[in-house]
Amino acid sequence: MGVGNEQIAEYWSEAHDRCWRCGYKSLLEQCRIVPESLGGTDSADNLVLLCGRCRREAPNHQDPQYMWRWLRATRAESCDTYWTIRGWEEFEVMFGRKPLACFTDAGDLTTECRELAADEFAKTVERFGEGLNPSTIACMIAEIEKRLADRHGIVLP
Ligand SMILES: [Zn+2]
Repeated sequence: MGVGNEQIAEYWSEAHDRCWRCGYKSLLEQCRIVPESLGGTDSADNLVLLCGRCRREAPNHQDPQYMWRWLRATRAESCDTYWTIRGWEEFEVMFGRKPLACFTDAGDLTTECRELAADEFAKTVERFGEGLNPSTIACMIAEIEKRLADRHGIVLP
C-alpha cells in the first residue's frame, strides 16, 4: 500500500498551518523540491510546505523523487509528537540508555513530567522561534529525569 505524492500533499490539507513533515503548527515556508540553483522553479508542483526545523533537514537534490521519499519515510504519524520523539532518540544517543528506564516501578509519571517540563522550558531557548531542536529536548528530559530521581529516591546510572 504505497502513499502517492498527491496523498502526501493532502496529508495535512485540512490544516494548512501544519508542516507536511512534522505536523507541527509553525511558521511555514514554501520550500522548493528541486532547489533554485539546480533549476527548480516556484511552480506549485515544485513546492512543499515545511517548518524551519524540517526545511533544514530536507534533501537538496536535483532529483525530486528524493524529497517525496524523505517525506514518506520520515513524516509524523500524528500531530505535535514528532520533535518530542526525536528528543527521546537524541537522549538515547547522548546518554546511551533510554530516558526514564529506571522509573518502571514508579507508576505513571505523565502528569509529573508535564508539570516539571513547564519549568524546564525556562532553561532553554528556541532558535528563530522554531521550537526546540532534538538535542535541547534531550537536555530537558535529562533535567526532568534528575528531578524525578530526587523525588522518588532513585539513583540514576
Ligand atoms: Zn516540520
